[in-house]
Amino acid sequence: MEELPESHPRYESLRQRHRIEAGVEAGLTSPQGLVAQGRGEAFDYLLGEQTTPSADTAERVAAAHLLDADDAVVSVNGNVAALVPDAVVELADTTGAALEVNLFNRSRERIETIAEHLSEHGADEVKGLTADARIPGLDHERAKVDADGIYAADVVLVPLEDGDRAAALGEMGKTELVVDLNPLSRSAAVAAVPIVDNVVRALPNVTAHARDLRETGADLEAVVAGFDPAATRTAAEKRIRQGSLDG
Ligand code: ATP
Repeated sequence: MEELPESHPRYESLRQRHRIEAGVEAGLTSPQGLVAQGRGEAFDYLLGEQTTPSADTAERVAAAHLLDADDAVVSVNGNVAALVPDAVVELADTTGAALEVNLFNRSRERIETIAEHLSEHGADEVKGLTADARIPGLDHERAKVDADGIYAADVVLVPLEDGDRAAALGEMGKTELVVDLNPLSRSAAVAAVPIVDNVVRALPNVTAHARDLRETGADLEAVVAGFDPAATRTAAEKRIRQGSLDG
């Protein structure tokens, strides 16, 4: 990256790719995280690598859910830890949500590495190591969560969650806020609030909306009311397929 000038047209995308590579080297990200990043890059390219108006609306609604929650949790995987450690800590701080490490390929060592990394980036407390509760309907390793974290949460923000877990969390009656650049993914399809945007842009924008909602004393229930997840996914899909600027 050192030799790549910021004026390079692919600078931002290559910077993200480099962060994931460095995440794999540091033991934060699994090699499969590289594949997930590649899939995300393709969708982001087609979205124009910008937050669309429909994604911005979803990010505001997600912020309102987080502020209105009794127990909100922001789930962190290896890609999120590598790409946006500062932004995820800031989002949790701003909204009062807890942070919980939640991995597709679970290993205690990687959870500890991620928890330490988040602490270095300012996190007070990181859940995910206790793993004393199970999400019903998933195999043993995939089901493990903290009883006082994701298991008990009423609102969960899951950036880049896999489809099975997203569906199982939805079955538990949680309000799921999903960040996924693929509007057709199973995770986006089961979300109460699908955010079709790059996590690099989405998380700081949810934080900015949370600050604004709090400062203006907005009626959170009114912000959330009438949000249509299916229409949001359709707008994103239309944008990807047609390059339309009105989505
Ligand atoms: P499904 O939800 O359909 O089961 P999957 O589990 O097969 O999807 P993965 O292969 O794990 O999905 O890919 C992870 C998902 O995360 C992809 O849909 C990809 O578009 C998305 N993604 C990858 N990087 C980012 C990013 N930086 N920001 C937002 N989304 C991303």
